[in-house]
Amino acid sequence: MQRARQKSWAQFPGWPVDLSVDALADMSGVPSIRFAITPVMVTHDIDSPEGLTNLVKDFLPIEERVGCRSANYIVPCAWPIDHGLLGEVQRRGHEIGVHGYDHSNLTPFAAPGDRKRRLEEGYRLAERYDGMGYRAPSLVRTRELIEGLKQHYRYDSSIPTSGGPFPVPNNGCASARPWRFGNMWELPLTMPRDGSLRFLGYSADEILAMWKSSAEYIARSGGLICLLTHCEERFSGNPPMLAIYRAFLEWCAGNSRMRLCRPRDLIGELEVSE
Ligand SMILES: [Zn+2]
Repeated sequence: MQRARQKSWAQFPGWPVDLSVDALADMSGVPSIRFAITPVMVTHDIDSPEGLTNLVKDFLPIEERVGCRSANYIVPCAWPIDHGLLGEVQRRGHEIGVHGYDHSNLTPFAAPGDRKRRLEEGYRLAERYDGMGYRAPSLVRTRELIEGLKQHYRYDSSIPTSGGPFPVPNNGCASARPWRFGNMWELPLTMPRDGSLRFLGYSADEILAMWKSSAEYIARSGGLICLLTHCEERFSGNPPMLAIYRAFLEWCAGNSRMRLCRPRDLIGELEVSE
């Protein structure tokens, strides 16, 4: 039913990708960052112990086969983290970041003192794993949350280009280019997400086709490709979704106009080039 109601939840930004803001920037001459070779970043929100187990078992081998390293945003204060496993993720060259506090979506709306405490406790995981990035659970954020993140992180990646039906309709920045919030970078989440696509009833083959067409569109406009998949079985940790994830990564790796990188690598390059 939601798929049929796309007009109501994707008036603006449109679905699955809307680059109106980048088009306006180019037409009006407002400076923005355009990439000649498209950075491709694959990210996972690790919401549960199952997600972490599946990441190591199923996702990392697919990524490493094509020379790719992912960014993994871990819920820091909700369930016991297997630090042996997470340490292995880091040792294999993948990036670790922070995914909220306990995934209850309260931090953006908490009283100032409580928000500060939640952000500080979450940041301890980043300190342990040299993390510099944040992803808000369910992409729920407020101005106050963004302000608080600036104290700790070099980048946030919680703003979708085109939000789809979640967390609220008509949500997103309609840009696939990075920008700054003061000292902190924003790397928009530019690709349609596995959660929305699965909820809307898209098949694995339809999702692969949509990922490829979205990636080509973003690449043509000089944007960055940032994909979120979840490793739990009910999202992307199942054979059909793993097969198209592999196919998408191989397709990107074989495209001379694209390059696979981690968000932290891109942040380093952006800061050098300024
Ligand atoms: Zn999550």
